[in-house]
Amino acid sequence: SITRIFHSLRHPPIHLPPYDTPLSAADYAFSLQRNSLWSNSVALINSATAQRVLYSEFIYQTKTLATNLRSAIGLYKGDTAFLLSPNLSQVPILYFALLSIGVVISPANPISTEFEISRLIKLCKPVIAFATSLTVHKLPKLRYQNILLDSPEFDSLTTTANSCVERGEVNQGDLAAIMYSSGTTGKIKGVMLTHRNLIAITASYHSQRAEREQPAVVLSPVPYFHVIGFFYSVKSVGLNETVVVMERFGFTKMLRAVEEFRVTNLGVVPPLVVALVKNDSDGYDLRTLEGVACGGAPLGKDVIAAFTHRFPKVLVTQGYGLTETSGPVSRTIGDEEVCQRGSVGKLEGGLEAKIVDPDTDDVLPPGKQGELWIRGPPIMKGYVGDPEATSATLSKDGWLRTGDLCYIDNRGFLYIVDRLKELIKYKGYQVPPAELEQLLQSHPEILDAAVIPYPSEEAGQVPVAFVVRQPQSCIGEAEVMDFVSKQVAPYKKIRRVAFVSSIPKNAAGKILRRELREVVLPSSSSR
Ligand code: AMP
Repeated sequence: SITRIFHSLRHPPIHLPPYDTPLSAADYAFSLQRNSLWSNSVALINSATAQRVLYSEFIYQTKTLATNLRSAIGLYKGDTAFLLSPNLSQVPILYFALLSIGVVISPANPISTEFEISRLIKLCKPVIAFATSLTVHKLPKLRYQNILLDSPEFDSLTTTANSCVERGEVNQGDLAAIMYSSGTTGKIKGVMLTHRNLIAITASYHSQRAEREQPAVVLSPVPYFHVIGFFYSVKSVGLNETVVVMERFGFTKMLRAVEEFRVTNLGVVPPLVVALVKNDSDGYDLRTLEGVACGGAPLGKDVIAAFTHRFPKVLVTQGYGLTETSGPVSRTIGDEEVCQRGSVGKLEGGLEAKIVDPDTDDVLPPGKQGELWIRGPPIMKGYVGDPEATSATLSKDGWLRTGDLCYIDNRGFLYIVDRLKELIKYKGYQVPPAELEQLLQSHPEILDAAVIPYPSEEAGQVPVAFVVRQPQSCIGEAEVMDFVSKQVAPYKKIRRVAFVSSIPKNAAGKILRRELREVVLPSSSSR
């Protein structure tokens, strides 16, 4: 059979350290930085207080914290630490400390409900949690006492080392993180990412970095618990960038921070590019901005065009990736023209891709649409404790089924056409429909329910519920929405409800989501 495998066309190709060399992602990032020009530039700036942490201090604090977590707390390589925090500047320091001693990081959305958190904890089995004074009440008791990032205790853990202990070698194949994703089906799963995965992403960014005279100043309001926020924190150190940390996001706060800290690059999700196009930013000096990198969900061609019109000197780039790929699969760096035509760019260094007919598993030629399969160093190890979901997503020879309908053109540019999987993306956040469907079906007055995405200009997509009432029930839209919103984090809220007499399903009982998508909803007030 003819196999058509697409390879990365990036130059220069990425160079990865030999796999057998023990190396944590933290030490890899530090090693790249040692070779850079600006040995003691600013690592972090807190946007609210303007407090700066130099790279020398960053390295000292992460090493001190690592030592204390080993000796004073007793954490070991292979233990898992849960994290429930907004984007504090302590988070990257904690990430680097944990990575350097091989403790697996499992960060979750701080607005998750206790119910949601208990499910994540069952998946990742942490021995300790790091939280803040505002989130700690949602956590159960673990083996070690929870540590608050916004406490004097944490400060002293990063500044005074009590004793020196052997750190133990971290191998590249060791687990670095467990991130959360529903993958191609509805159920939430723990994505196992290794140090090697993160090293590959960092190496890829490093090989494509632009020559600069000064360190880039990067501001990304993407949360640290999302894979984008996570790998950004690692690659930023490898690239010697100055990171402006925004604890609480606000659009005008962001503009002010760009002006005040002379930000050169933003890392954002599509709704922010829309906001930059639509909102007035004339009162702010944004002349230092060179690039806006967008990812996490599709960025419309029209938005790109409008952005370029409004900010002609700022290069807008789009990246495409999954939690399961640790970072970008493709980016449009330097390919403005294809970006404007809707491509998400060429494959990142070291990756292979094929386009597979979802019905026959045939491998398709350039230009033909099918499911994108990806193979290479940044692909996850699997889903924690779920061999069944792992083998349904990862083939034996290492291909990841993305669940995205795509094609690749003759020049090697990737285009995302649609999503084959059930996932809904609200402002870049994952909303797994099956989770909401289960909740709805648990309501005594609901006979059956299905949740699908509905297009929204502001959020990209919002979840809409199709509900079949029990006979005699006259439950209304508001009641359905309130029932769900009490039990889930706000971004997962049902924003529209349509009452139907039945949910279309195939013979196997699988919901026919495409049919539901064709139902024309009355123009009701969506919340
Ligand atoms: P997550 O694991 O939350 O990063 O979600 C991954 C999914 O987001 C992908 O499988 C795509 O469906 C979608 N996605 C991410 N980036 C893009 C993009 N640039 N264009 C279209 N879809 C995207």
